[in-house]
Amino acid sequence: MAPDPSAQAVRRLVRWFRDEGPDLPWRRTRDRWAILVSEVMLQATPVSRVLPYYDAWMRRWPRADDLAAEPVGEAIAAWQGLGYPRRARNLHAAAVVVARDGWPPAERYQDLPGVGAYTADALRCFADEMPVLPEDVNVKRVVARRFPGGWPGAPRGRAWDAGQAMMDLGREYCRARAPRCDDGCPLRAGCPAADAGIVDEVTPRGRRQARYEGSMRQRRGFLLRALAEDGRAPVDTDPEAAESLIAEGLADRRGAVLVPAGSGR
Ligand code: SF4
Repeated sequence: MAPDPSAQAVRRLVRWFRDEGPDLPWRRTRDRWAILVSEVMLQATPVSRVLPYYDAWMRRWPRADDLAAEPVGEAIAAWQGLGYPRRARNLHAAAVVVARDGWPPAERYQDLPGVGAYTADALRCFADEMPVLPEDVNVKRVVARRFPGGWPGAPRGRAWDAGQAMMDLGREYCRARAPRCDDGCPLRAGCPAADAGIVDEVTPRGRRQARYEGSMRQRRGFLLRALAEDGRAPVDTDPEAAESLIAEGLADRRGAVLVPAGSGR
């Protein structure tokens, strides 16, 4: 039987990753808590920005139990500057569940607060080394362009490497804009989209990021920064943004003052 070109491409990808994949702290562990923290931080945030946050977080809360023992406001304050603070609230909620009940079985990771289909697959692949490919928006793009017939699977025992390699390929070469097809892409040979000149046409369309300047995200961020720095912020600084933080459990109200979520309970 003729060798399957897609399976050969995956083998090439794994070899490339083994030779050139960067050494990142969450790649040195298979600890579920460390993988969950890294995956949640990496959602919509570049690796370079995540690195100092991840190091500080894991030094302070090396196990889910350590975070669960603290008020959620501590997690939100430590998240300050990383964006999308509801991720910190969800991580804290997940830590509370794990501290109380232990980790759910792999097929039920999505029972944890804030853990969706992608993050559950990332836990299965990057912590448990199960043969699944976690498909975030970057990996979906690489699959659409390079494996239009669908992901062929990784060689036996290589799912972890293949998953990490797909992340790196999507970030470094098979980028959403200006893909580096002819600038060193390790999977250029035999790439169906590049060969046919239809890379752009087969790229799944993502949601456009809303403008940050003047947005509710920016106004909420301003209040959360004040909470992290001063431990309080007057509600009338921005009542609408304050209400939205309270409604989401990202801050509490004490009279006319906004305070960190969970403080004083
Ligand atoms: S050749 Fe281009 S489209 Fe194909 S995998 Fe590489 S970067 Fe992506």
